[in-house]
Amino acid sequence: MDTMDTGFFVAWFEEAARLVRRDRDRLTELDAAIGDADHGTNLDRGLTEVTKALAEWPPSSPVQVLSSAGATLIRRVGGASGPLYGSVFRQMSKALDTPVTLAGFAAAFDQGVVALQRLGKAALGDKTMVDALTPASRALALAVRDGVGAREAFEQAARAAAEGAKATIPLQARKGRASYLGERSVGHEDPGAASAALFMAALATAAA
Ligand code: ADP
Ligand code: MG
Repeated sequence: MDTMDTGFFVAWFEEAARLVRRDRDRLTELDAAIGDADHGTNLDRGLTEVTKALAEWPPSSPVQVLSSAGATLIRRVGGASGPLYGSVFRQMSKALDTPVTLAGFAAAFDQGVVALQRLGKAALGDKTMVDALTPASRALALAVRDGVGAREAFEQAARAAAEGAKATIPLQARKGRASYLGERSVGHEDPGAASAALFMAALATAAA
């Protein structure tokens, strides 16, 4: 896989939608512990709309897939995570060069994470989706530097995101609804970090 075409990006969101549907209850239970118990249902609804829109108005470029998905997530996901995920994909769509190489993907993804942090003001360690997406972005940058192929690079990014999500368990939340709990947020995995790990797992599957 030298470059990533429109079909690759569609497959990414279809697989993300499938994984979030599969793990909807787990994500909602994580949010029940430190939030308001809507993350799984929110994101499932949003990604169902994303795949529906991609089927109804077939995109003709990777940029269109990302901008459509970003706009739908902003519009259809109630709660903080919709605009936050939306900002990642919309910024990625703006930063992406075609044809999409691994280096181009990694650079655009990093811009997406920067936009997310600009919007949500969360730093690494604040117990948010940033704690999964930042290590994933770093893993992609390292893979590009080391000349690793796309498939292996996305697997490494997925692993880094999953580890980052698990690493939120001992942290105290400093952003979002969970931060209202103070020390009581310690001991639970952040739901947004968990769903971000699913997005990265979906990327690895789309590349496989
Ligand atoms: P809400 O908190 O409005 O109910 P969701 O339940 O859909 O929204 O999403 C919660 C997730 O959003 C959190 O687990 C966290 O990962 C993420 N999140 C919340 N606020 C921020 C923020 N300021 N920056 C980054 N991520 C955030
Ligand atoms: Mg919630």
